[in-house]
Amino acid sequence: MTKSILVVNCGSSSLKLALFDENEKKIASASAERLNSNDASARIDSDERIVALPKGADHKQALQVLVSTLRERQMMPDTPTSVGHRVVHGGETFREAVLINNDVISAIKDCASLAPLHNPVALAGIEATLEQFPDTPQIAVFDTAYHQTLAPRAYLYALPESYYRDWSVRRYGFHGISHFFMANEAAKRLDRTPATTSIISAHLGNGCSITAIKDGLSVDTSMGLTPLEGLVMGTRSGDIDPSIFSYLCSRGMSLSEVHRALNHESGLLGISGQTNDMRTLCDLADHGHEPSALAIEIFCFRLAKYVGAMMASLNQLDALVFTGGIGENSSRVREKTLSHLGLLGFGIDADMNEHHGGYSDGRIDDTASRFPVLVIPTNEELVIAREATRLAANV
Ligand code: AMP
Repeated sequence: MTKSILVVNCGSSSLKLALFDENEKKIASASAERLNSNDASARIDSDERIVALPKGADHKQALQVLVSTLRERQMMPDTPTSVGHRVVHGGETFREAVLINNDVISAIKDCASLAPLHNPVALAGIEATLEQFPDTPQIAVFDTAYHQTLAPRAYLYALPESYYRDWSVRRYGFHGISHFFMANEAAKRLDRTPATTSIISAHLGNGCSITAIKDGLSVDTSMGLTPLEGLVMGTRSGDIDPSIFSYLCSRGMSLSEVHRALNHESGLLGISGQTNDMRTLCDLADHGHEPSALAIEIFCFRLAKYVGAMMASLNQLDALVFTGGIGENSSRVREKTLSHLGLLGFGIDADMNEHHGGYSDGRIDDTASRFPVLVIPTNEELVIAREATRLAANV
């Protein structure tokens, strides 16, 4: 019987499924959006037909409907060989992917206070697949786990130490699955081994983070206790003076309004007043919309500052890597960012950048650049599928 691995990725209001064969080929994928609302919708990616969902469908219902649709269309076997789940927060409990059992489920529940929007929906996905495939090994892969190698100097905030001891306040970091993939993929493209390769990985999607990777291990990263810290993002502010929080409250905003503003109304959307979508922003800027041009400017300047900051953790740099929807596709963002980094010796080839590195295995640096610069498409689903295969093999 051929092996298949189902990858389940539950976002706060979305669900993505991907099915891989034993040769790491994606053989099917499906998704659902706007879950828990009257507009909940779902589709199988290889065809245009909408899959009907009950009104207000939740993650569990969407998963059941999509799995049975994939089976009916013979795109999926009755039972996959293993199931891999993306879980956002593993706290300090999970330093690597694990086989799911009752203890793991309780520990993921315990981490939910740190990721209230994400861990409960991941648990709903786990429960739904355990019901559907009770005898199939299920594996949890954490977004935070890769960053558990940070040293205290990188993960501790300069706060009273009891906040860490009593309330687990520290930097956890996110996008670890993508940064881990970059560490391996960059090493492969540079003809090196991951364990001796040091890179700076910039994951720039709707959420953005940057990680310093030394000899294959994460040593510093820009996201913190939550994914709000660090770079400018689609709707998140990234770094701000923490006093802005109490100042805004003194101006009449409630705690939850400030929280909402910083997470959902800031970043590219907040500065431009128009959109969180980089493609649209670039179009608007090209048509003379100054706030959009400024949003791109601030995004790139913050990113460049962070590239410099990440170098403090490394004693060699084998590549700066761009990934995520923006990192992979926006030559403008890459060019603008690197224009701030000439002093550090980064140089970019305009033509190779325009072609997103498609000419030469992702390379976009020019011949004078001190460091290779790479564009690498991320593949978080593949990492999850690989981990599921690795851990299921021991069951
Ligand atoms: P992700 O969260 O990784 O899907 O990335 C979403 C972001 O990537 C959005 O801001 C998109 O506008 C951006 N993006 C996707 N394609 C392009 C493109 N061709 N040029 C600029 N930005 C893009």
